[in-house]
Amino acid sequence: FAPWTDPASKPFISFRNVTKKFGDFVAVDDLSLDIYTREFFALLGASGCGKSTLLRMLAGFEQPTSGEIILDGQSLKGIPPYRRPVNMMFQSYALFPHMTVENNVAFGLKQDGMPKTEIAERVDQMLKLVKLEKFAKRKPHQLSGGQRQRVALARSLAKRPKVLLLDEPLGALDKKLREETQFELMDLQQELGLTFVVVTHDQEEAMTMADRIALMAQGKVIQVSTPAEIYEAPNSRFVADFIGDVNIFDGKVSSSADGRIQIETESGFTVRVASPDALAVGASAGFAVRPEKIRVSREAPAQSAANAAKGEIWDIGYLGDMTVFHIRLADGKVVKASSLNAVRAVEDPLGYEQDVWISFAEDAGVVLKD
Ligand code: ATP
Repeated sequence: FAPWTDPASKPFISFRNVTKKFGDFVAVDDLSLDIYTREFFALLGASGCGKSTLLRMLAGFEQPTSGEIILDGQSLKGIPPYRRPVNMMFQSYALFPHMTVENNVAFGLKQDGMPKTEIAERVDQMLKLVKLEKFAKRKPHQLSGGQRQRVALARSLAKRPKVLLLDEPLGALDKKLREETQFELMDLQQELGLTFVVVTHDQEEAMTMADRIALMAQGKVIQVSTPAEIYEAPNSRFVADFIGDVNIFDGKVSSSADGRIQIETESGFTVRVASPDALAVGASAGFAVRPEKIRVSREAPAQSAANAAKGEIWDIGYLGDMTVFHIRLADGKVVKASSLNAVRAVEDPLGYEQDVWISFAEDAGVVLKD
C-alpha cells in the first residue's frame, strides 16, 4: 500500500511555501512538499541545492524565513528541536569518544530523566536492533566505520522518534559496506514502521532505499516520484540528466498531431514517437533514451526509417554484468548503449570501428520540451 497514491490519505509532514534566506541568498525557494507516514523519503540533489537546509528546518535547527511546516497536523512554528517528534542522525556520527557504546546510546534517555532500569532495557533493545549486543562495552575507536554508524543509528532511534532524519548517513562508509547498510536501513525502517527522511547526493542510494525521491535544484523541487517513475519518466532535461545515464537527441518538431510527435534531430535522423502533449511545429525538443533501451545491430532495422541511425563503435566498456558501447554517429554525437552480458554472449561480438545501426522503440524514452 502506497499512501501517496491514495487521494484520501493525509500527509504526515507538509512543507508549505517554505522559503529560507541566508542574507540575500535564497537556499530554499517557496517549496511545497508532502511526506507520508512510514515513507522512506529521499531528498536528492547536488551540493548546495538546499536539501540539508530543508532537513534542518524540519528538525528545528533553522527557522523558515517564510512559509510553514506541518507535522502530524500541527504547525512546527516556535517548537524547539527537543520537543519535536523527530530525531536527526548526522553525517559525522558525533559519537562521544570517551563513552562506551551503551552509554552513547543511553545518553539522550538519561538527559530526559528516564528511570535506570528502563534505560537499560531500551539500550539492550536498540543494540539488538542494530546487531551490536556484543559491542556494548566498547568505545567508538574500537569499532569499524560501519559499526559506528550503527551505534549512531541506535542512539538516534533510542528516544523512539516518529520521524528519523538522516543527513548523508552512509557518506563515510566504503562502497560495499554502504550497499549492505542501505538494505539494513530499509529493513529497520520497515520493522519499526517509522518515517525516514534521508538527504543524499548519491542517486543510486536514493534509488535503492527510497519509496519516493524529491530531486532538488537551487532550492526548488524539480520532480517528486517513485524511483521507477523518476528514471522512466523524467519530467525535464535536468532530471533525465541527473538520474542515471541518458542519450538526449535534440532537434526541431516537424509534426505534432493526434498524440504523435516527429522530431528532426541534429544528428540527421527522425524520431517518431507517441506523446500525450502536443508541441508547436518548429519548436526545439529533445528525446531522452536510456542506454539499455538502445538496440545495436549490424543490419539496418527493418521496420521504418525513423528511430534509427547509422554509426560506428567507438568504445567498448566491459563492466562484468554488462557491456557499454559508445557509438559515434555521422555528426559526431556519441550514443551510449548498454547490454546485459548474458544477451551479448550468444551474439557475434561487436568490435571497435565496426559499422552498426542504433535504433529504439517508440516507447523507449520521453520527449523533453525545452
Ligand atoms: P551539501 O550536500 O553540500 O550539504 P545541500 O544541498 O545540503 O548541500 P545546504 O547545506 O542546504 O545544501 O545549503 C544550501 C545553500 O545555502 C548553500 O549554498 C549554502 O552555502 C547555503 N547555506 C547553508 N547554510 C548557511 C548559513 N548558515 N549561512 C549562509 N549560507 C548558508
